[in-house]
Amino acid sequence: MVRPLIAGNWKMNGLSGDSDTISQIAKGLEGLDDVADCLICPPATLISKAADTASRTRLKVGAQDCHANVSGAHTGDVSAEMIADIGATYVIVGHSERRADYQESNEIIAAKAEAAFRAGLVPIICIGETLDEREAGQTIEVVSSQLAGSIPAGAFGRAFVVAYEPVWAIGTGKVASVDQVEEVHNKIREILGGRFPGQADETPILYGGSMKPGNAAELLAVSNVDGGLIGGASLKADDFLAIYGAC
Ligand code: PGA
Repeated sequence: MVRPLIAGNWKMNGLSGDSDTISQIAKGLEGLDDVADCLICPPATLISKAADTASRTRLKVGAQDCHANVSGAHTGDVSAEMIADIGATYVIVGHSERRADYQESNEIIAAKAEAAFRAGLVPIICIGETLDEREAGQTIEVVSSQLAGSIPAGAFGRAFVVAYEPVWAIGTGKVASVDQVEEVHNKIREILGGRFPGQADETPILYGGSMKPGNAAELLAVSNVDGGLIGGASLKADDFLAIYGAC
């Protein structure tokens, strides 16, 4: 049985004052049944404070990206070790915004996921097709090749998470239909089962893309959907907790 995961991705949002939202989420969780893991990934500038706030609560804290190397001449980058050092336990890699903004390839993403394992972090490896790819009937092909290329060999025996996020559903208010989500999630589980026998049933597969309190219950009930990666709706404690409550 997979333990579900409700993960919030704040993207490039949040100043120090917004740490209050993180304490509201941590407090709110205490009043809810412990049915899933709950994670918040604030911008790098807030990780340390968030980890302090979340310590001794059920809330976990993660980062939104990491560099593949441990240290060195990489101006502006942050390594997985640095993220772990300030109390994060997860890191998102391969988000479609990074694939698009920084031309991150599957190889780069696999190297970042390896870095996460090296540092003792759980990587959340993101995949998903663009609208053009979906309309061309290439969804399963694209998702399968991203999955094959972005999960490193070192994932064998390690905890990791896969997030399926159709690019056209991210931040657009357009949500994939239950049938579309089910088709892709079933395929991901099948591929994981072939490559990581015995481990696939413990690997959470998250759906991401305009998940909100109003549609979360329906999406989370789809077979092989083990939680959500939530952008916009994770910025408000009430909305994020309502999604958690829909698990
Ligand atoms: P969204 O973002 O919930 O705002 O669509 C999801 C994501 O990009 O992880």
